[in-house]
Amino acid sequence: MTVDAAWLMFQAFAGIFGLLFGSFMNVCIARMPEDRSVVYPGSACPSCGTAIKPYDNVPVLAWLWLGGKCRACKASISPLYPLVEAMFGVLAVLLFRHVVRDIAYFDAPHLVAFVWYGWLCFAIVAMTFIDLRHKIIPDEFSIYSVPVGIGGAALLHGLGYELAPTWQQSVVGALAGGGLLLGVIGLGWLVYKREAMGMGDAKLLAAFGAWFGALPAIPAILIVGSVVGSLIGVSAALATRSSLKLAIPFGPFLGFGAIVWLFFGDNLVIRWAHLFG
Ligand SMILES: [Zn+2]
Repeated sequence: MTVDAAWLMFQAFAGIFGLLFGSFMNVCIARMPEDRSVVYPGSACPSCGTAIKPYDNVPVLAWLWLGGKCRACKASISPLYPLVEAMFGVLAVLLFRHVVRDIAYFDAPHLVAFVWYGWLCFAIVAMTFIDLRHKIIPDEFSIYSVPVGIGGAALLHGLGYELAPTWQQSVVGALAGGGLLLGVIGLGWLVYKREAMGMGDAKLLAAFGAWFGALPAIPAILIVGSVVGSLIGVSAALATRSSLKLAIPFGPFLGFGAIVWLFFGDNLVIRWAHLFG
């Protein structure tokens, strides 16, 4: 096999990996807000409860060949399911290309880095759908992921992957990210007597700090998240002529900031360093 064909094949594997995890993500999005197990029982039709056969559970394709309907009761199945799967499949390919970059780097450190960043991307996309619908961020995708962030950083450093923070930087990042937003929440209570944002946002930023370290990632993610969030919040308020208190959750915008940082942060830091010596 030529090098190009091998590289294409690895990217295809990354995409299939993403599609399968996108399918699992649908289960998380549907069940986690109701505190149901994401493992047992297997997938079932939300309308009639019939268990979904393995061949009807193929990401994206099953929805297409079933015409978006349950095989048993013909109830329509939301296009959001194949969309989530497709979205995460594409994200997995982009992440693979970003982290591994070239077949010359197809080795243990870069594959571990791909899985480690993949965990974070999974948490961000799943959390986004749950937060938009239910205004909660499951702890699994925020504070419980912090040890994964720190452990992964330690492992990657041991493997000689230099783009990850050291475990010490990772711990400081988690404390800084969580602590900063806890401070903002405390201030909100003191000044406005209301919650400026949720505890879930603080736990989420703690996780981002564990993956990226405190500086310059935490302020960069906060700035991107706040700017995009305000733009969308103000447009939504103008469009619906409602007050800004309509409260769009902040978590998805923090998540967007983290994805931007993951894909463009290292370049920005390098350019910044060049600009200022
Ligand atoms: Zn059904």
